[in-house]
Amino acid sequence: MVIVALTGGIGSGKSTVARMFQDEGAYVIDFDFLARVVVEPDKPAWRDIIDYFGPEILSPDRTLNRSALAEIVFSDDESRKALEGLTHPRIFEESDALIEAIKRKDPSSVVIIDLPLLFELSLNKKFDKIILAYVPRAVQLKRIVERDGLAKEEVEKRLNAQIPIEEKRSFSDYIIHNEGGLNDTRNQVRKVIHELEDLARKEGGDSKCC
Ligand code: ADP
Repeated sequence: MVIVALTGGIGSGKSTVARMFQDEGAYVIDFDFLARVVVEPDKPAWRDIIDYFGPEILSPDRTLNRSALAEIVFSDDESRKALEGLTHPRIFEESDALIEAIKRKDPSSVVIIDLPLLFELSLNKKFDKIILAYVPRAVQLKRIVERDGLAKEEVEKRLNAQIPIEEKRSFSDYIIHNEGGLNDTRNQVRKVIHELEDLARKEGGDSKCC
């Protein structure tokens, strides 16, 4: 089995590329989805977050008030680190359980972990390989403006909060160039999945990850 992180920058096509890997037979685990699951009401991370931030970060329906929490953690590094410390171990518990289940079923599978902030969270060492969904920054900007209907300045702000995509290139094993058409991207995905499948067969159940 090989466990591969798929990352990118906002608007670089990570979700599009993740879907293509799934179409080609890879198992895809979505960290953003797991991050929402672990903070559902009454889950351990939900309790820990209330203990730390206080009950005022709850909405009337007892779910976390995401915008209130985001406002706190994006303006205060210590709070952000605390929140990560409460949620990340739980997210990894969930993904480890999924990986274990996949390994039992299909020991030489390719598992793609869709992890937007891989480098920002210094998680890159945990994986066998890293794939970057890449487009130049100008294309990121244009696609996010079109996708989310945001002002250019707002997108610039979000892009500036991430490690520049050019920097991520040098730390990645595979770069999927997504600035062309979708067919071109799919062809690259097919080439990469074939290489990963070969690797998975060689490694058997022996991944360094998780
Ligand atoms: P991310 O998950 O990295 O934020 P998405 O996969 O959502 O990025 O892609 C951002 C936007 O660009 C989406 O609206 C998507 O449909 C579009 N897009 C992705 N890849 C391509 C492509 N190769 N050509 C044109 N548009 C694309």
